[in-house]
Amino acid sequence: MKHIIKKPEPESFLNWKYTDVKVRRGNAKWSRLSGAKRASIKQELLESLCKEQGYICCYCESKLIKKPCGQNDFHIEHIISQNEAFKNNRPELIFDYNNLLCSCQCNQSEDEDHQCGMSKGNWHSDDMVTPLQSDCETRFRYTKFGKIKPLDKDDKGAQETIEKLNLNAPILVSFRLALMNYMYYSNSEILKRTTDDRIKLEYRSKDERKNKFNLVQKIPINTFFAGTFILGAYNPFDL
Ligand SMILES: [Zn+2]
Repeated sequence: MKHIIKKPEPESFLNWKYTDVKVRRGNAKWSRLSGAKRASIKQELLESLCKEQGYICCYCESKLIKKPCGQNDFHIEHIISQNEAFKNNRPELIFDYNNLLCSCQCNQSEDEDHQCGMSKGNWHSDDMVTPLQSDCETRFRYTKFGKIKPLDKDDKGAQETIEKLNLNAPILVSFRLALMNYMYYSNSEILKRTTDDRIKLEYRSKDERKNKFNLVQKIPINTFFAGTFILGAYNPFDL
């Protein structure tokens, strides 16, 4: 899980929240943002969330993609769901930019594996590991078989997060394995950056390719190898 640093919310979204009576009263549902009239506000919000995450899923780090039909295969995700927000008498969370992320998958059918936000649904726990926590990257490790596990086996929050978000869905495990194979068998940039006891992963988000690397991660090689961490930039199927 990659740490996400929130940036300022889009002005159009902010302005709409200030002017919409229902939102101001705290009795508007998320669907208030739907419909043709607000389509451009929602689109700008979505683009802002995708950009600050580097165009990867907030939980599994898979690249955000479109379905073959052209529809987005990702959605705006509430860390604390709308149901939970109303239940806890905190309706302001529904449109709080700091409660919003972008997760992979959208409108999955019943027979498809659900993962990340689609699997999480309304679940929330104070122990949940979220990408907004600065230590989230050090709470997990990856096995050589492509599975994600808590770095500390007694970390119940990390374990529950893996289970509730279904981060070991077969498709995610196979992506990780494909990425590991790519790293093993190619003379890639990533391997050249490997040092004795640490693997250093560097990548740029799509819109920052011309600038300096925007993130440098140093991770103990014994506790972490590959994973989906860099799928957004080094998706083996794109190369
Ligand atoms: Zn995901």
